[in-house]
Amino acid sequence: MSAKAEVLVLGAGIAGCALAHHLVLRNGGPVVVYDPRTPSAGATGRAAGIVTEQLWNRWDVEVTRESKEQYAALADRGDPSAYTVNGFVRWAHQPDAIASLEASIRRLRNWGVQIEELDPVRLAERVPWGRFDEGVRSVFSPTDSIVDPSALNDLFTASARRGGAEFVTGVPMRSLRWSSGAWEAMAGSQPLRGRRLVVAAGAWSKRILEGIDHPLPLAPYRTHAALLRPPSGVASFPSVHDIETDVYARPESNGRVLAGDGTQLVEVDPETVPSGADPTFVSDLAATIEVRFPGWANAELLRAWTGVCTATPDRRPLVGPVPGSDALLVLSGFNGFGVMRAGGVARRLAEWMTSGGGRETERLEPVLPRRFPQGAPPFRPRPGFTVDDGIAPRF
Ligand SMILES: Cc1cc2nc3c(=O)[nH]c(=O)nc-3n(C[C@H](O)[C@H](O)[C@H](O)COP(=O)(O)OP(=O)(O)OC[C@H]3O[C@@H](n4cnc5c(N)ncnc54)[C@H](O)[C@@H]3O)c2cc1C
Repeated sequence: MSAKAEVLVLGAGIAGCALAHHLVLRNGGPVVVYDPRTPSAGATGRAAGIVTEQLWNRWDVEVTRESKEQYAALADRGDPSAYTVNGFVRWAHQPDAIASLEASIRRLRNWGVQIEELDPVRLAERVPWGRFDEGVRSVFSPTDSIVDPSALNDLFTASARRGGAEFVTGVPMRSLRWSSGAWEAMAGSQPLRGRRLVVAAGAWSKRILEGIDHPLPLAPYRTHAALLRPPSGVASFPSVHDIETDVYARPESNGRVLAGDGTQLVEVDPETVPSGADPTFVSDLAATIEVRFPGWANAELLRAWTGVCTATPDRRPLVGPVPGSDALLVLSGFNGFGVMRAGGVARRLAEWMTSGGGRETERLEPVLPRRFPQGAPPFRPRPGFTVDDGIAPRF
């Protein structure tokens, strides 16, 4: 059997499934989504699911706000447990980090992000198991949320299917090529054809694009997370981020806590990288918790894992047509923020694909792949929950 589509999407993570959802809503022609694994088998199924507007630039804030609206509405209709508003708070003690935080507060206010500064007493009320020294500065965004990324992906997938999208999963890709005016992927023994191809394959996107002679500056890297159970359990609390250690945490069901960072700033191969946590991540996390979150010092470690994310040189995603081919598009390079960006950016890409007009191009301008010269040199990933202004390094 051969599946023929207007659009063939590679990757059933949250980016590819959100795109399929938005394309069918816009009658973007038959859509086929292919994944050699299963939906959410990549980074999506390993993510913490923090969604915050405390971001680097106005474009990111607007996109994430759109995602939040979509996620709230989808969860409301299909799975209320997939979306919870709990707020997000970050803090700093050191002068340099405080200066960055203050600059970030000014920018966030300019972009209309709802934020409050908390004095140490109010911070300790929100985060009673944390330790805050004199001079701590913090910023709280009360409308931020957490999502269950896999549950949300299920909702996007179900909606796309209802709209007619076809999903082909669980069979290896044998080949991918341009043939007789269309892209053709051999999925197991089944040929899949699409007039346009969207590479939304997360950490695997780099190799796929290289394999069809359209390389883009992408670098897969590993990041860690762990599930903890403090002895007394915890009630709901805002997601938190300690700027100096870069450790974050969010509430999980049944009194548990999901905590992470352990981001490794080196490129890896997603096919061969171990999916279990490094022992150093666990010991570093325990050390940070003891100092910064003493109320959780005796927490039981239930599980720890890694996932592979995808960096770009300027920390902005790569979304839109790949230079040199009208029929090839990319939706990747989320630098560890793909859950929060997926809904908003997939809608923008679907709008561009179904209209191709000037306004739609403008809405994607900061993330269009054409911003990079051909043959951009290798670079080191530098993602993270940073509070700097995200200014791109120069080539
Ligand atoms: C520990 C951890 C914590 C995180 N926390 C957050 C967070 O709090 N908030 C946030 O916004 N983001 C977070 N992220 C980042 C987020 O998970 C990713 O940015 C996001 O899931 C990327 O989605 P994706 O669809 O692009 O990629 P993925 O979810 O990785 O999906 C890519 C898919 O492509 C498939 N694929 C591979 N090869 C092929 C092929 N040849 N053809 C077709 N498909 C292929 C894979 O099987 C996979 O299913 C976190 C990530 C990790 C690992």
